[in-house]
Amino acid sequence: MSALIELSSFSKRFGDSQVLDGIDLRVERGEVVVILGPSGCGKSTLLRCLNGLELGQGGSLRFAGRELGADADWREVRQRIGMVFQSYQLFPHKTVLQNILLGPLKVQKRPLAEAVAQAEALLARVGLLDKRDAWPRELSGGQQQRIAIVRALCMNPEVMLFDEVTAALDPEMVKEVLEVILGLAESGMTLLIVTHEMAFARAVADRILFMDGGVIAEQNDPESFFSNPRTARAQQFLEKFS
Ligand code: ADP
Ligand code: MG
Repeated sequence: MSALIELSSFSKRFGDSQVLDGIDLRVERGEVVVILGPSGCGKSTLLRCLNGLELGQGGSLRFAGRELGADADWREVRQRIGMVFQSYQLFPHKTVLQNILLGPLKVQKRPLAEAVAQAEALLARVGLLDKRDAWPRELSGGQQQRIAIVRALCMNPEVMLFDEVTAALDPEMVKEVLEVILGLAESGMTLLIVTHEMAFARAVADRILFMDGGVIAEQNDPESFFSNPRTARAQQFLEKFS
């Protein structure tokens, strides 16, 4: 069976700058991959390419066995690949439930009762069912980010991409968001996670990818990576967190 996500010699340039330089990557169904690396090394660009927010210029990108290029039906693909960013991006003039239902109703054309039932089940799962009818401005940053995760999950994606989803949060709210992601990992969902939370990375990952300068400089299981990084670049990176 093909991997869920398969990149081969995948490359991306912005002007003269080669931001992704020949990425080879296979992500299997149910795998949790954490991407680490210094600022500017291409982590966000890699996730954005997986979601069609950026297009690569070389190599190939396959999702569920299908080649995804400029002519792909990205609207359809994005329903299958959920993404949550650093900023919560909830619509301020819609309630929590309205935010969550937008995709299921408008994009997926699902029956209202069924979509509401799923939204409520997901809200309960992240401990926010009582915020169903609240406005985004009434929620803390950590609550808004958990709603953003629920909104993505309510599309029933096959994989979730998380790009530094706790980076903008006050420290006391980081844990409640990371626990939701840990729960998704334990439920067997395929996850690609960019984070600077090293203890979380170690706990959640099946595999660590360490990127530097647009390449995957090193990859390993979390225990091996954190206790015995092989490259000098990874060693230097980890020293900043010790
Ligand atoms: P990371 O997420 O690892 O910090 P990014 O993927 O955001 O890194 O960026 C990688 C490099 O690509 C950086 O040098 C950044 O300045 C550049 N870059 C990212 N997006 C764009 C863009 N839209 N146009 C031009 N350069 C970009
Ligand atoms: Mg980034």
